[in-house]
Amino acid sequence: PTRADITYFGAGPAALPTDVLQTAAQALLDFNGTGLGIAEHSHRSELATNIINEAKADLASYLDIPPADYEVIFMQAGGTGEFAASVYNLVGAWVARQHAAIVQELASADEAAVVAALRERVEKDLKLDYIVTGGWSLKAYQEAVRLLGPEYVNLAADARTINDGKFGKIPDQSTWKLSKDAALVYYCDNETVDGVEFPEFPSVLAPAADGTGPVVVADMSSNILSRRVPVSNYSLLFFGAQKNLGCTGVTVAVLRKNLLPPTTTQPSPALMRKLGLPIPPIMLQYEIIAKNNSLYNTLSIFDVYIAGQVLKKLLKTYPNKVDGQQAVSDKKANIIYAALEAQPDVYRIVPDKSVRSRMNICFRVTKNGNVDDVEKAFLKEATSQGLTGLKGHRSVGGIRASNYNSIPLEGAEKLAKFIEAFAKA
Ligand code: PLP
Repeated sequence: PTRADITYFGAGPAALPTDVLQTAAQALLDFNGTGLGIAEHSHRSELATNIINEAKADLASYLDIPPADYEVIFMQAGGTGEFAASVYNLVGAWVARQHAAIVQELASADEAAVVAALRERVEKDLKLDYIVTGGWSLKAYQEAVRLLGPEYVNLAADARTINDGKFGKIPDQSTWKLSKDAALVYYCDNETVDGVEFPEFPSVLAPAADGTGPVVVADMSSNILSRRVPVSNYSLLFFGAQKNLGCTGVTVAVLRKNLLPPTTTQPSPALMRKLGLPIPPIMLQYEIIAKNNSLYNTLSIFDVYIAGQVLKKLLKTYPNKVDGQQAVSDKKANIIYAALEAQPDVYRIVPDKSVRSRMNICFRVTKNGNVDDVEKAFLKEATSQGLTGLKGHRSVGGIRASNYNSIPLEGAEKLAKFIEAFAKA
């Protein structure tokens, strides 16, 4: 088959727009008539800096990120690296806040006394809260436990406890066991494996009228750029590029500036050692990456370029920016879910209706007994019609249609028609 024959519903890496790839292919050979490809130019060159700055500005424009309050940085360790980076950096920020408060309370900067009081406070009060609603937030929670030890990590909600040990629902916010002044409250906005998406920002985490509120961290790897985000409610949101933004290799962190100098400076390695707390590898320290405009070390400018081209295309396609894409994303998801719901004897949608994802549509095919055989037939037949990448994640099985931004409306319609025809056949 050729590209034109395929609609690829894979969960990530996702398909990229063909015109973006054509532009990028040319740029790999010769970037803007420089006689050198984009992956060969120095990351310290002016043209690399321009690519970074334009991608940052276009992302901020598309998502309405307030530039005065937020910093956008490009990193390289994937969503998985951010599980660790968020822990290290926000524990550091919490310690910095407590340090300042203790110096004031003791009215002294006597180091031994401050460290003793700080150590006591860490033991008593340091908590990281995790809302676990699927495989990815579970992995983030486990990483925090691994890095810090279980005593500091609070499983504030576990969706499996309300759904027979499986993911597929979001526990009512009134049952979340949130800590006082947690170093972070973490959740995953869209669970790629389980097809569970938060329908909106969890109101229990909203800031108060005076702007103070919990330190909210969200993983938006698999639904960023597909709907409006109330950015100001977050201290940190992050996402790998490989689903809705670009190709694998670059990770974006959007960070509230009050977590960076001059407001917050990460504690010294010596102090953290005295407190028995870890410090990040330098390439996971937000402060360092932000100070260097994402160029502390060699960054893949090619990956940033692709992300930038995708953003330019989105901005050109949708004059009302992310709201325009959101309308299309919702419509595509509705078409696919409606096709599944129309055949309840054949298809079972996995997650609860109230939390089902617009991006990763997870379902089982149950016709005539043996699910495995029927699903194999479904996948084989779909592939023969150019509908590929539909196999569910290996940990849960079933079918998963990943409905990212690069799936056109016609692609979703084609899948819906196939769902209907397969049920009838
Ligand atoms: N978070 C979510 C929601 C994901 O879907 C993924 C990967 O699919 C990750 C994190 C991990 O990302 P990476 O493979 O870039 O580390």
